[in-house]
Amino acid sequence: MRLTVIGTGYLGATHAACMAELGHEVLGVDVDPDKIAALQSGSVPFYEPGLAELIAEHVASGRLRFTTSYRQAAAFAEVHFSCVGTPQLPDGQGADLRYVDAVIESLAPYLDRPALVVGKSTVPVGTAARLSGRLAELAPAGARVRLAWNPEFLREGFAIEDTLRPDRLVIGFDDGDSASEPLLREVYRPLLDAGVPLVVTDFPTAELAKTSANAFLATKISFINAMAEVCEAAGADVAQLSAALSYDTRIGGRFLHAGVGFGGGCLPKDIRAFRTRAEELGVGRALAFLDEVDAINLRRRDRVMELAAELLPGGLSGRRVAVWGCAFKPDSDDIRDSPALDLAGRLHQAGASVSVYDPHAMDNARKLRPELDYGTGPLESAQGAELILHLTEWRDFRELDPRAVAEVVARPQIVDGRNVLDRDGWRAAGWTFRSLGRQ
Ligand code: NAD
Repeated sequence: MRLTVIGTGYLGATHAACMAELGHEVLGVDVDPDKIAALQSGSVPFYEPGLAELIAEHVASGRLRFTTSYRQAAAFAEVHFSCVGTPQLPDGQGADLRYVDAVIESLAPYLDRPALVVGKSTVPVGTAARLSGRLAELAPAGARVRLAWNPEFLREGFAIEDTLRPDRLVIGFDDGDSASEPLLREVYRPLLDAGVPLVVTDFPTAELAKTSANAFLATKISFINAMAEVCEAAGADVAQLSAALSYDTRIGGRFLHAGVGFGGGCLPKDIRAFRTRAEELGVGRALAFLDEVDAINLRRRDRVMELAAELLPGGLSGRRVAVWGCAFKPDSDDIRDSPALDLAGRLHQAGASVSVYDPHAMDNARKLRPELDYGTGPLESAQGAELILHLTEWRDFRELDPRAVAEVVARPQIVDGRNVLDRDGWRAAGWTFRSLGRQ
């Protein structure tokens, strides 16, 4: 089939490449000409394992092309996936929907052939119904245009795997729309044939499937981080507590890992937007707990600052601190709402001399926080440091020999903000080793 994918960021570039991998002919569309030029030449302007190779393969095969032209997009295909961003409003907690609106405004006037627009962005419940009305208003008279909502659940770092082998597909259709489901079943045929479960539902349920999944995941992380706070006060060990809980199959071990908390371009802004939407719907109390989920998450960063102050008595000013990691998670160069980069900035503001190292996110970090120093490797960034903060759990850091690191620092002190380093090994090598929720 012929498809377009509008918005070629993390989600859209992955979706476009994976749709080509499924055998479709795909046209990627973006308003950013530099991004389009890069993608067209087979390179990806961000880091996602395997994606550059997949894009290059399908650009070469001719199944994947890119454009900035909506006119060309409308003429190219019957199915258009909308994958643009829905960031937090600059001056509020809700979602900024200007980009999803702009897709409809830009595409609809050109839709002079039957078309199905499929929203994949994470949006407040009620958005699809509104966009569907707008699509009908703006399309040429008599055009057969429809909207479906198919939220995306992929994880950065596993984006290709999650797109080609998702846990489930969820698609919401408008009342009385009988034509769209067969078309989308055709798009996703290889996945459905492989047994991927499909939930067919209405617009609001599809939208809520995504926002409530993110609310649940954020709550689970903040639950174990709240337990970490209790462990710190009670002298318990949150890692062992988490292990004990995870054997209970009703609870499960995933997303039950205490640390410096969640960040990124999804969970923080999605729980805030969800909370805001619930207020608008008059059910704010139902989601009031999400304020606490957010607060617990942010308090973990304060805890790291407290540990830094404890380990560097006499004040942070002028003290050399190495920050390992600045992506919001490993296997990604995404620094949106990254706890690691936020902490590096806070240490800098407190007067510390901060040297940051991350295997893939340094270019992005430099643009956002040019005031920080950036090292060329974990050892180089640790040179002369009185304290190391391990804040993004890249494998590279886990594999370091603590004895080799001890040779370059001024004082062997480390805070493991992700609870993944071998505590006993570091202590045996002479380190003062602190972590979150553990003694
Ligand atoms: P992103 O910022 O990386 O990408 C958005 C892209 O849309 C950019 O390339 C931008 O240039 C482009 N764009 C903006 N306005 C446009 C327009 N009018 N026409 C065409 N292109 C336009 O964002 P993202 O991380 O890919 O997220 C996209 C959506 O997917 C969000 O709603 C997000 O919450 C959701 N989502 C993201 C992930 C993830 O892991 N990144 C996972 C699931 C869902």
